[in-house]
Amino acid sequence: MTLVSMKEMLQRAKREQYAVGQFNVNGLSWVHAILDGAQQENAPVIVAASDRLIDFLGGYRLTANMVRTLVEEKGITVPVALHLDHGKTVESCFKAIDAGFTSVMYDGSHDPIEINIRDTKRVVEYAAAHGVSVEAEVGTVGGMEDGLIGGISYADLGECVRIVEETGIDALAAALGSVHGKYVGEPKLGFVEMEAISRAIGVPLVLHGASGIPTHQLHRAIDLGHAKVNINTECVTVWSEQLRRTLAEDAETTEPRKILTPAREAIRQAVREKIQEFRSSGRAGQAVEQLEGYGVQS
Ligand SMILES: [Zn+2]
Repeated sequence: MTLVSMKEMLQRAKREQYAVGQFNVNGLSWVHAILDGAQQENAPVIVAASDRLIDFLGGYRLTANMVRTLVEEKGITVPVALHLDHGKTVESCFKAIDAGFTSVMYDGSHDPIEINIRDTKRVVEYAAAHGVSVEAEVGTVGGMEDGLIGGISYADLGECVRIVEETGIDALAAALGSVHGKYVGEPKLGFVEMEAISRAIGVPLVLHGASGIPTHQLHRAIDLGHAKVNINTECVTVWSEQLRRTLAEDAETTEPRKILTPAREAIRQAVREKIQEFRSSGRAGQAVEQLEGYGVQS
């Protein structure tokens, strides 16, 4: 099927209290693994490219073409959205949309709310004309974001309401204690604030930095309105661990397929486990049915 926006996917997920997994791409192996994992779980999925890595990946167009083509070559039938993660500028979001991304995140969380709203609005206007969904961010996710190490700063309820109402975004990343990268000790998510924000805004919430958050906390976040959960660290961890094991077990091999295939399989397995944990296993059919109602070709 063709790539779809994440709008209807997430609305349905929020209504039925499961979450669609966003898995970040770090090269072709990831695209194979994410698509295969989602297809095997019969789950909708969000394939994401971080704006920070776009040059490493080969640019917006190559990334979009790589994902689109692989969806076709593999005969993938589950709904797939191609999402720009942490879009750094309004222009980079425009470039991604022009290249064929079906969803973008504009991350203006480091700017004052007035500027964040103004810039997010520009992205929403351009995206809407192309049938592309938009995610925005308020507050600061801890750890590494856009290549910078920063502290956690909770999203403000009033700012969350304003950005949703004034821009018309489809999903909101409201930072509430999660961290990009590895957690030190048990994550502490602000569930009280989360419930208040979710009730006030109506649109689905997005959980960044979900790698390492225990299942019971994840499920609580999903029950409180998170319809999209972002995973990267867990996939890169199993990938690099497997790569080290493979090379250690056979110090002589120079065959790339032998070296890279087990690592790709490790990502696929991790993707499947996360999809099950997010309760989105088996939800592809429902999502497609929902999408057809919106006139999206399958
Ligand atoms: Zn993030």
